[in-house]
Amino acid sequence: MKTLRLILGDQLNLSHSWLDQVNDDHLYLMAEMRQETDYVKHHIQKVVGFFQAMRNFASELEDEGHYIIYFKIGDKNNPQKLPELIKQTISEHKIKKFEYQLPDEYRLDQQLQEICRSIAIPSEAFDTEHFYTSRDELKNHFKGKKQLLMESFYRMMRKKHHILMANDQPEGGKWNFDQSNRKKWDGSPKIPKELSFNKDVSDLLEEIKNAKVVTFGNIDANNFPWPTTYEECKELLDFFCSDLLKHFGDYQDALHTREKYLFHSRLSFGMNSKMLSPKEVIDTVVDYYHAHKDEIDISQVEGFVRQILGWREYMRGVYWKEMPGYAKLNKLDNHNPLPDFFWTGKTKMNCLHKAITQSLDNAYAHHIQRLMVIGNYALLSQIDPDEVDAWYLGVYIDALEWVEITNTRGMSQFADGGLVATKPYVSSANYINKMGNYCKECVYSHTVKSGENSCPFNSLYWNFLEAKKAHFKNNQRMSMMLSLLEKKNKGELTELQERAEKIIQNPDDF
Ligand code: FAD
Ligand code: SF4
Repeated sequence: MKTLRLILGDQLNLSHSWLDQVNDDHLYLMAEMRQETDYVKHHIQKVVGFFQAMRNFASELEDEGHYIIYFKIGDKNNPQKLPELIKQTISEHKIKKFEYQLPDEYRLDQQLQEICRSIAIPSEAFDTEHFYTSRDELKNHFKGKKQLLMESFYRMMRKKHHILMANDQPEGGKWNFDQSNRKKWDGSPKIPKELSFNKDVSDLLEEIKNAKVVTFGNIDANNFPWPTTYEECKELLDFFCSDLLKHFGDYQDALHTREKYLFHSRLSFGMNSKMLSPKEVIDTVVDYYHAHKDEIDISQVEGFVRQILGWREYMRGVYWKEMPGYAKLNKLDNHNPLPDFFWTGKTKMNCLHKAITQSLDNAYAHHIQRLMVIGNYALLSQIDPDEVDAWYLGVYIDALEWVEITNTRGMSQFADGGLVATKPYVSSANYINKMGNYCKECVYSHTVKSGENSCPFNSLYWNFLEAKKAHFKNNQRMSMMLSLLEKKNKGELTELQERAEKIIQNPDDF
């Protein structure tokens, strides 16, 4: 039966069972669409990265003999919207059945269900064969529980998939080596230069510009650094094992003005586009560790496995459990606008200046920059989570809603009231200074609490606690901070609040 099989831009799984055999009755449909470039304003590297990876994927399938229908963004007959695209193709190619892989975004899931209802031929949805878990596995694991503790989910996953396990016990004698993942990086050990693919994407960039897609951020079109084929993803994974893994865990939380990647893998784009499977990543890393136990400590490997087997699958499960309501949550009732410097990087606060400029230049920031610098500031300044989400969803090359929103609205902005994070990730300058060297090169003083040259994070921190304390009164993990707040004398607190208010009103002019 002549069947149309849709492959979305983040479903670039060459190992999918759909592709095991060439069948002349199977037509594969892929399209670069305005509905995808325009639902939020994206970083230019993100648009280029996805389109380039889609084109490479399509030509690999073509080389294998599969029948591909591919629409480029500038093609005259590109319908630019999914419903029109599918209906037009069904009619032009006299299709008898429509098949698709389950999308990872709620928005697309709804749209595809609607399309299936409106076409006159049978349709069928297939798994993407990418994740360890099904959409509902986390929901079932936490059935009847109020709190969705990541650690409990992670241990279940380790046991179920037998990863880093020895005779039903965790390898190394502990489930979690988080405590040893907190070193500051002070220039040593040496960080290997990142593996960059330096591709020329200028033609594609021109096509995107000609199509008048509105983007932001910077790009060097002659040196595009991201992997856009499976082979390149695999190269990046091997580089991670041989050059970065041995220090990954130790410096996972470190911050540094000159080192944007430290020992991080940069594998999120490869995985989120599904060029690379999480199972291949984990198996490769664990095998490498087992073969190099004399030089790599378990804590480095466990820290990495936890991010992918734990956090990544956990966030996806939370997304499917909580959507669509999750996208509207604002439990802390934050409504301030996003400051302009998020789009320019121009602020005197050195940590934010560096982390945001780096994000605009590279479409990348590592986890602690996202959480404890940028996200920390957004939460302390009580910015509306809708605006924070739109920024995060646009700026990073790996940003897809299922993993972006749960990290941003949930983990970082506490807008879900504590479903993902057991306490808000907020800190004064103390933490930022402890984990890196931003403060050394800043015009503000991280030790000064109030007044002209005091670090804004300090007054914002106490102002936030005072403003939101009612939300945290039953949170055990906040009790120490709230009791310190209670001990502040009224004059000092008022001074901190006044300074915080000025910063919120005009962060770049105080
Ligand atoms: P590494 O540090 O090398 O980690 C290895 C892998 O672990 C990552 O590639 C990623 O797949 C996974 N991982 C690590 N932390 C998380 C996490 N918290 N949730 C899910 N997976 C994780 N990650 C995204 O993939 N897309 C996003 O849009 C995204 N938005 C974020 C927004 C905020 C506010 C925060 C705090 C975190 C966000 N993350 C997001 C999680 C994390 O920051 C990135 O996955 C990571 O920085 C990607 O860089 P890397 O590949 O070098 O990661
Ligand atoms: Fe950031 Fe404050 Fe440190 Fe400056 S002093 S880098 S604003 S934490």
